[in-house]
Amino acid sequence: MGRSSFMTAEEKSKVPKVTKALLKRVFSYLKPYRFQLGLGVLLIIISSALSTMPSILTGKIIDDGLIKQNMKALVFYILLSFGLTLGAGLIGVAQNFINTWIAQHTTYDMRNQMFRHLQTMSQRFFTSNNQGDIITRMTSDIDGVERVITNTFSSILSNSITLVVALIAMYQRNWILATIGIVIVPLFAIPTRKAGENRWSLTQKAQEKNDEINGILNESLSVSGQLLVKLFGKERYEYNRYRHANRKMIRLNIRQNMAGRWFFVIISTFTNIGPMLLYFVGGLLMMRYDSSLTVGDISVMVALLSRMYMPVNSLLNVQVDWMRSMALFSRIFEYLDMKPEIEQPKDAVKIADPKGNIVFDHVFFHYDADRPILKDVSFELKPGKSIAIVGPSGSGKSTIINLIPRLYDVIEGSVTFDGTDVRRLDLNDLRNSIGIVSQETYLFNGTIRDNLLYAKDDATDEEMIEACRKANIYDFIAGQETGLDTVVGNRGLKLSGGEKQRISIARILLKDPTVFIFDEATSALDSISESKIQEAIDPIIKSRTSILIAHRLSTILAADEILVIKDGTIAERGTHKELVSAGGVYQELYETQFEKGVPQ
Ligand code: ATP
Repeated sequence: MGRSSFMTAEEKSKVPKVTKALLKRVFSYLKPYRFQLGLGVLLIIISSALSTMPSILTGKIIDDGLIKQNMKALVFYILLSFGLTLGAGLIGVAQNFINTWIAQHTTYDMRNQMFRHLQTMSQRFFTSNNQGDIITRMTSDIDGVERVITNTFSSILSNSITLVVALIAMYQRNWILATIGIVIVPLFAIPTRKAGENRWSLTQKAQEKNDEINGILNESLSVSGQLLVKLFGKERYEYNRYRHANRKMIRLNIRQNMAGRWFFVIISTFTNIGPMLLYFVGGLLMMRYDSSLTVGDISVMVALLSRMYMPVNSLLNVQVDWMRSMALFSRIFEYLDMKPEIEQPKDAVKIADPKGNIVFDHVFFHYDADRPILKDVSFELKPGKSIAIVGPSGSGKSTIINLIPRLYDVIEGSVTFDGTDVRRLDLNDLRNSIGIVSQETYLFNGTIRDNLLYAKDDATDEEMIEACRKANIYDFIAGQETGLDTVVGNRGLKLSGGEKQRISIARILLKDPTVFIFDEATSALDSISESKIQEAIDPIIKSRTSILIAHRLSTILAADEILVIKDGTIAERGTHKELVSAGGVYQELYETQFEKGVPQ
């Protein structure tokens, strides 16, 4: 079903309070285009006024042309009426263009503003919000706003103007007939609306029934469904269920169809009663009381009356459109008003010459207040050294890493980079000093080259090849027909997990950060892929400042220090030698997991 002029209960519950502040904010988006808006309004006024003229000219055609049998006047007014209609149409086109132009430009601004705003939102926002919902606000909500600006605003304006012009013209001719017109129009507009409402609710009910029937069909006629029915001997039960729903459906369909008939009877009767009443009262006035009223005047009244029908009808619907629009705007504003959790600090400290000294000082952290994740974590990563973080799944290893580039901020304690709290550092500088290869490698849809250039947009081919060599992926790339220009597919789906990881390692090598962070993938890779990755990572661990979440013994062995995390605390720390026979968590992990991974 398309957009109806009636609201569902759900929509009604979401109608926002239309405050002055909300309206002010909505109109602030139109402000930069006020000149165009003014022109648009002017054009709407002219075109709606012009389009009412032909109805008024009918009077002249009848009185001065037909009744007086004046051919010249007749042709003149016919041509004038024709010209005015054409003029109104042409101006309508221009007005439409301006409308669309304004709508496109305002939503362009709004989209960009929203995109920039979403970019500042923290990791928490993206992990705790439904991705579909985020995209919906960016796309269909803003599309809705576009519709509002193109249709709702202009239809309110043009319909009101048409009504006003029609009313003025009617009152100029005869106030009695005009008043009858005003009384009659709602009389035939309101029943139409009621009938429509009734029909709409029946349609909705029929739709629900239809869904129910489809559900029954799906359940009982699908391969596994019918098997279940057979094995439980439920044929009779299912048949009765289906028959029952089906019967309700036909009742609804009949009612819905009949509601449609009533609808037409009502429309045609009332639209007929209106003009007849005007003819009657007009005739009465003309013949008995007011001789100045002409046949032409009465025809004009009748013509204007039917011109008023559409605007009145749509103005009656406008409230729903208006409420919907406000709901759309407030949904968008709700997002725009969310404060970014992680922000660039005021008086941010620039990092001129990063060394890569990272200190966790009594760090406490939770995602949700009722569930502590990190409890009193302290350690230091010295420049040039490497730390391997190990521990059972869910113990908080990735969380530790998330705190370094400020994907989240600590709750208590501090994380410092080269002696300054990360919360005081320039966010860009901080993130530029750190390179993370995450478990889930994300490659953009594009070529390998595009993905590499993302890290360093002025990298030369030589630099890229060098990085790929170090990441152990160059042989693969050289073996491809198109080399660096090989397309990786959506999210890198055309590559294997191992290839993707090595490309992301190459990407980080190109970025050449001060601190390397690896979240080693737990996903099973074949041993060749694994050893290739290992060969790429090992030299980095040995020569660069790095932190790794390690799952493989060889990675752990390459690190200078091992932190064993359990339930969000550092349970043990030391070297492999010290920990392997200490009888603690590490020994247990070693015996159950790592030992199998020892390269022979
Ligand atoms: P793995 O080795 O399986 O990756 P991990 O040690 O890295 O595990 P973390 O990812 O740090 O563990 O998660 C620690 C705990 O925090 C887990 O219990 C997890 O359920 C919870 N957690 C992680 N991310 C979030 C989040 N965004 N919101 C709420 N809880 C989270």
